[in-house]
Amino acid sequence: MKNFTYYRPSSAEQAVGLLENTWGNTALLAGGTDLHDLQKEYIAQPGRVISLGGIAALSGITVEDKHVRIGAGTNIADIAAHADLRRFFPALTEAAAQLGGPQIRNMGTLGGNLCQRNRCWYFRDEHVNCLLKGGPRCFALEGENKYHAVFTQGHRCVIVHPSTLAPALLALGATIEVLGPKGRRTQEIAKFFHAPSNATEREHTLAANEMIVAVSIPRRNLTNASYEIRHKQSYDWPLVQVAVAFEGGRAGANVTNATIVLGHVGPVPRVAPAAAAALNTRALTDETATAAGRGATEGAKPLSQSAYKLRLIEVAVKRALLIAGGMKRYWEV
Ligand SMILES: Cc1cc2nc3c(=O)[nH]c(=O)nc-3n(C[C@H](O)[C@H](O)[C@H](O)COP(=O)(O)OP(=O)(O)OC[C@H]3O[C@@H](n4cnc5c(N)ncnc54)[C@H](O)[C@@H]3O)c2cc1C
Ligand code: SF4
Repeated sequence: MKNFTYYRPSSAEQAVGLLENTWGNTALLAGGTDLHDLQKEYIAQPGRVISLGGIAALSGITVEDKHVRIGAGTNIADIAAHADLRRFFPALTEAAAQLGGPQIRNMGTLGGNLCQRNRCWYFRDEHVNCLLKGGPRCFALEGENKYHAVFTQGHRCVIVHPSTLAPALLALGATIEVLGPKGRRTQEIAKFFHAPSNATEREHTLAANEMIVAVSIPRRNLTNASYEIRHKQSYDWPLVQVAVAFEGGRAGANVTNATIVLGHVGPVPRVAPAAAAALNTRALTDETATAAGRGATEGAKPLSQSAYKLRLIEVAVKRALLIAGGMKRYWEV
């Protein structure tokens, strides 16, 4: 690991004041579960590391009448265990509870989760100079790509977005509170994620001298759930994940305003409008859930080894919907 100078500011404003306006030499440190890996692998080589650990105001969950605010420094285990979050937003708390293992959930934070870098094995290998590290091309396009994207159109880099909290927050219509040198701004989470294509871009739209302060989720009484498909019960990222949120869908009421978001299938979490259209204004049944699953793969263009994910998407969408609707989990015996 390259030597660095360590800073421990006591306010978010001080932390932002220490950031440079280009990526590379300064890095925020939250739980360190991703940043330290990147440093040890020489993928990130900051000269100055700014710890957020001394900023008490960044952690905590506040439940208001109209929304719930989660500080960026709140750890993932606390999100998974919070009673009100579990009641209002099971899509989020289930995703948090499944994430990594206990150590990762105890150290990893919400802000770090949303800003973690991708898991492409070419990117994570210091000896491979791919597009995202300033190199000439994407090695996954014609190389080993079984954990890569299936929605690849228009993308020169075919990573999958690594966050499993992101699809849930997107389905729930969350907003992100960002602090930068000019003060605070609020951003819809739908506009937060970004498909990077060179070394100067990240998997999100924050500027290098901005940080996430908190995430707010509106309390809209949506029926919601998430479901993920993994290698066994492995201590690893899912192969495919789905988060769903909608009005109605229970006690015979038709579904309206459905949002279905797919994770780990494209460079950004993917909203699937054709899946929602197969469901909206209809009762939630085995048949409509199956139709939504089929709709979810519309527009996919898998790579040489990632086409198996198409079937996983269909299954995950169906199961997430049935879980949200409180219906029988036919796959559990
Ligand atoms: C074995 C393993 C399994 C995992 N499985 C999953 C999984 O299933 N799903 C999943 O989603 N993740 C998974 N992860 C990733 C894990 O969730 C992230 O590493 C963690 O959430 C990062 O949080 P952190 O606080 O440790 O971030 P750090 O490592 O401290 O930071 C990560 C990045 O975010 C930036 N950052 C941190 N806080 C802020 C902020 N407030 N504003 C702006 N930028 C910030 C840092 O500068 C850095 O670039 C797994 C990790 C491991 C090691
Ligand atoms: S998918 Fe992206 S990160 Fe991976 S090799 Fe291609 S350009 Fe690099």
